[in-house]
Amino acid sequence: MPEPTPSPSGTGLLTPARRPAVIELRSVRAGYGRIEVLHGIDLSLPAGAVLALLGPNGAGKSTVLKVASGLLAPMDGCFHVMGRHVNGVATDALARAGVCTIPEGRAVFPNLTVSENLRIMTYGGVSRGEVEARAFARFPRLAERRKQLAGTLSGGEQQMLAMARALATEPAALLLDEISMGLAPLVVDDLYAVVGQIAAEGVAILLTEQFARAAMRVADRVALVSGGRIAAVGRPDELPSDLAAAYLGGGLTEQAS
Ligand code: ATP
Repeated sequence: MPEPTPSPSGTGLLTPARRPAVIELRSVRAGYGRIEVLHGIDLSLPAGAVLALLGPNGAGKSTVLKVASGLLAPMDGCFHVMGRHVNGVATDALARAGVCTIPEGRAVFPNLTVSENLRIMTYGGVSRGEVEARAFARFPRLAERRKQLAGTLSGGEQQMLAMARALATEPAALLLDEISMGLAPLVVDDLYAVVGQIAAEGVAILLTEQFARAAMRVADRVALVSGGRIAAVGRPDELPSDLAAAYLGGGLTEQAS
């Protein structure tokens, strides 16, 4: 397939004009086997932006992240990373190109210590000292727990470790799937505060959430996903209230207990 010319204005369908997209999906259809789950997704994510995909169970949010991380190749449509057409490019190649994913469930190694989990991230050539220094500067609690097995950390600390590992690769884009899963509201607020800082440093962030309150605080754009389509998109304060209520219910204002 010929390489499409990157849009000079980054006009992304969801992007404020004049910022080039780190990740862009155009008319993406994707699914599992022969079953199509995404029916034409358009999104564009520039550096430093936070786009939250919100919506009910089974809407297709995680499937969008699977496409954006390279786990699932589009059946149709275009997937670009920094202007390059990357349909079908493997996850590891996308990771090396700067697209880093934290899947639902955090995926830390429970039988390794915090330090050992971080040491794994030295494969890219960054020294262990540097990986640890960055991780501990951002998450001081991990420094206190450096010799502790990751499986014995609290859920919030495991999520911090997953984020610290992801950031060790200095990603251009970070994909976060339901980081609030199973965590107390205050912990979720802390994690989203860090998400906001990471975005302010220029990382493009695409995230999914079922419980929207904390995500809405840091997201500069929100896409309501339903039935494999984006039903509405805009700044959090721009979403039509009837749609927000219909798609998010209490999730717009309440964290799950
Ligand atoms: P949730 O928060 O519950 O994960 P979601 O919005 O992230 O919801 P997806 O996980 O993307 O939704 O699922 C979208 C649809 O795809 C659902 O109907 C789901 O059953 C289906 N699906 C997800 N993963 C698979 C899979 N591996 N094989 C087959 N169907 C799948």
